[in-house]
Amino acid sequence: MSDEEGEDGVNGWMEESCAHCGHTHKVVNGLFLREARIREGLSLREMARRLRLSPAYLSDVERNRRARLPKIVGNYLRQLKPMRLVNQ
Ligand SMILES: [Zn+2]
Repeated sequence: MSDEEGEDGVNGWMEESCAHCGHTHKVVNGLFLREARIREGLSLREMARRLRLSPAYLSDVERNRRARLPKIVGNYLRQLKPMRLVNQ
């Protein structure tokens, strides 16, 4: 298993075309966040409450339907046990 893969095999990073500059950026895969949250038994509702986001908004983030803003991802990861999310 490479450093980029979650325990369940979902890659922590994905390529996504940027609406702002048109280039492709490497961004956090929301599905990876979702799996990590579920593994720790945290509900979507509880995570949304801690991050002060609506559950619907957070659900969209986890499904890669909204931008995974660095601030949101940082706060999200702080709710979970320490884990490695290696960018390369
Ligand atoms: Zn860009």
